[in-house]
Amino acid sequence: MASPVWHPFTQHGLNEPIPRVTRAEGAVLHLADGGTLIDGISSWWVTTHGHCHPRIAAAIAEQAGTLDQLIFAGYTHDPAEAVAHELVRLAPRAPDRPALSHVFFSDSGSTAVEVALKMALGHWYNRALDGGPAARSRILVLEHSYHGDTIGTMSVGERGVYNRAWSPLLFDVGTIPFPAAGREAAALAALEAACADRDDPPAAFIVEPLVLGAGGMLVYPASVLRSMARICARYGVLLIADEVMTGWGRTGTLFACEQAGVVPDIMAVAKGITGGAIPLAATLATGAIFDAHSSTDRARLFYHSSSYTANPIACAAAAANLAIWREEDVLGRIANLSAEMATRLDRLAAHPAFANPRQLGVIAAIDLIAADAGYLSDLAPALRAFFLERGLLLRPLGNTIYLMPPYCLTIGQLDGIFAALHAAGDRFGAQA
Ligand SMILES: *Cc1c(COP(=O)(O)O)cnc(C)c1O
Repeated sequence: MASPVWHPFTQHGLNEPIPRVTRAEGAVLHLADGGTLIDGISSWWVTTHGHCHPRIAAAIAEQAGTLDQLIFAGYTHDPAEAVAHELVRLAPRAPDRPALSHVFFSDSGSTAVEVALKMALGHWYNRALDGGPAARSRILVLEHSYHGDTIGTMSVGERGVYNRAWSPLLFDVGTIPFPAAGREAAALAALEAACADRDDPPAAFIVEPLVLGAGGMLVYPASVLRSMARICARYGVLLIADEVMTGWGRTGTLFACEQAGVVPDIMAVAKGITGGAIPLAATLATGAIFDAHSSTDRARLFYHSSSYTANPIACAAAAANLAIWREEDVLGRIANLSAEMATRLDRLAAHPAFANPRQLGVIAAIDLIAADAGYLSDLAPALRAFFLERGLLLRPLGNTIYLMPPYCLTIGQLDGIFAALHAAGDRFGAQA
């Protein structure tokens, strides 16, 4: 019988094979048919230290037998308290900026971003009630952004084939051009003009710091992010950093904002927060954002919740992940892997089939030169199948091939991946 499962981002009409995975360890997935795959994209950017990390698995098992779930409205528990304290301690900071001092839990990156947007508008709304400046509601976004697949997060993301059916439901935003090489000044000028708009002053600007993930692994310099933050601060526009993908070491630092010395007003984290074992997300905010919602008036509370907010098992997994970060040289491991990836990416870039190599931390991307470029490029499914045959889980974004491996990847595994990339260049480069 056909499976009743409806998979995400999967065109069932093409009847492509759907591999069944039975267990995983480190960077390796074991298949029901006895084969194995190297997980080259950390199971969609979430697995950081490797699959089934013993410390995280043990923390989950222990918490599951102690306190499995608890209403989080008006109640609390040790794992949530521990994770919140640690997040505040680890968050980007700077002497001239208010600290990210409050933590609101949720369960996915999309929700963490929705919460960030709600906090930003709530801040302006409540301040207006207190006699402050008129409430603001306009959101500025960066071209090519991705922030999730809910109605709100699609609204602040790039519009295209992946959300066209719902465009009547999406709210209007102001779009700032992507600061591509040579066009940084124009992007900053556009941001400044939008922030300075007196008729409709923006409430917030949301960015993926340093690298736009789903938009095609597009990188931009830390100096540009720093200038963006300065412009926002000058006009009182709240800066929301979506560190859902970039967080937890992906770009070479714990959070990407650190490389720019930027402390946002609101920051969303998810994906690697539990090491990738179980869903959890958090939205961090400054005291000013929190205070705007804090009152003796019960009508002013922050109206957001989900059943599993700060689930204790997920928080215990996050606490174990944070202990690994505290006690092990994870950044050293990332730096080593990043350097090994860089030499191999350089060699691959010499292959005539490829162009536009780019890397930040353990995110490496390169474009396969194609007549048919873009997200719906026929190359993407062909490449996916090509890599699958070679024991590799990769999921190109159109004609962009990228790697985002777990930090435990061995040199041997990395060499295997790059051998497959060279082979893909030989096989598909000729077609272009
Ligand atoms: C993955 C991602 C999200 C959405 O996170 P989910 O956990 O999949 O909802 C949001 N923002 C960015 C930058 C992402 O990469």
